[in-house]
Amino acid sequence: MADKRDYYEVLGVGKNATEDELKKAYRQQAKKYHPDLNPGDAAAEAKFKEINEAYAVLSDADKRAKYDRFGHQAVDGSGFGGGGGGYYSAQDIDLGDIFSSFFGGGFGFGGGRQKTGPQKGANLKYGMTLSFMEAAFGVERDITITKEDLCPECKGSGSQPGTTPETCPTCRGQGRVQQQTQSLFGMTMVTKTCPTCNGRCTVIKSPCQSCGGKGRKKTKKTLHIKVPAGVDTGDLFPIRGEGEPGIRGGGYGDLYVEFRVSRHEVFSRDGMNTSCDVPITMTQACLGGEIELPTIDGNVKYMLKEGTQPGDTYTISGKGIPNKNKPNMRGNHTVRFVVEVPTRLTDAQKAKLKEFEAGLSEKNYAKRSGFFAKIRNAFK
Ligand SMILES: [Zn+2]
Ligand SMILES: [Zn+2]
Repeated sequence: MADKRDYYEVLGVGKNATEDELKKAYRQQAKKYHPDLNPGDAAAEAKFKEINEAYAVLSDADKRAKYDRFGHQAVDGSGFGGGGGGYYSAQDIDLGDIFSSFFGGGFGFGGGRQKTGPQKGANLKYGMTLSFMEAAFGVERDITITKEDLCPECKGSGSQPGTTPETCPTCRGQGRVQQQTQSLFGMTMVTKTCPTCNGRCTVIKSPCQSCGGKGRKKTKKTLHIKVPAGVDTGDLFPIRGEGEPGIRGGGYGDLYVEFRVSRHEVFSRDGMNTSCDVPITMTQACLGGEIELPTIDGNVKYMLKEGTQPGDTYTISGKGIPNKNKPNMRGNHTVRFVVEVPTRLTDAQKAKLKEFEAGLSEKNYAKRSGFFAKIRNAFK
């Protein structure tokens, strides 16, 4: 199995986190990476599984104690649907309260329920593409959304100003009607949404001319968004009350800004950690010396050590991406040295290189001599 991240780190809590803190952290994370909100996003799905696994262990006092003492080994395979794969299924955790608080009844869930009371409006999603640096350090943006909002003329009633909707005569304001139907088991009574008022309980005699009686109109709204430093692709940023209006006096839904972070020419990102390749010359690799290393804060000086090998890395702590919840905490930045071999040499340069190479022995090439020794052994 690939290296597992520390469970506390996965949930973004300290080792001494209380049960409540764990639960809160888990909910926040689970909401963000829930597959229903990130359809087709394999990275989010993987994170979601990781979060569930971490919470399953840390929320169980017994498993948590074992994990604290012995690490992943102590809890792998136990309770994760059998060892081996160690795959954890999210269904084992009750997500009920997450859904109800998140979707608020307006997100297409709970279909079939015939509610007549107030219902919260639909949540909306807005996709925002950020540059690598904007995501790393935060940015302020104005966005314009188009949504169904209450008609400003009739204030959502649907009735021409000065008139009021009347109680529906079919259902007498109940929103539902009972119907007798013949079935295999004889006559049964079924309750249905009133076909006259569509469950609204009222009918409009003189419809508002501005919205045609719907009570709603497509409206454009501009919002000022302060994107926090450290957001990543797939993160959802909630803006409370900026969704669609509720039904029958229900509150507004929420707007969720979903981020997509563009790639950078030089830097890559994995969560809070950044990395980049740094080309060095053959001579720099041999002799070492002072060079500049790029970071997202700008270049920093570095003493390259003598005999640096291609692929050697160096990690600068605290030069990665800020934690979006704790901006003072930052990830690390790792540079990988790539030795560039010079090309298009002149005859004179080639001659000098040959002369130089002739003076070297096996002790100058530790890896190479070891490698050929292994090959010789392999064919013995
Ligand atoms: Zn209207
Ligand atoms: Zn009715």
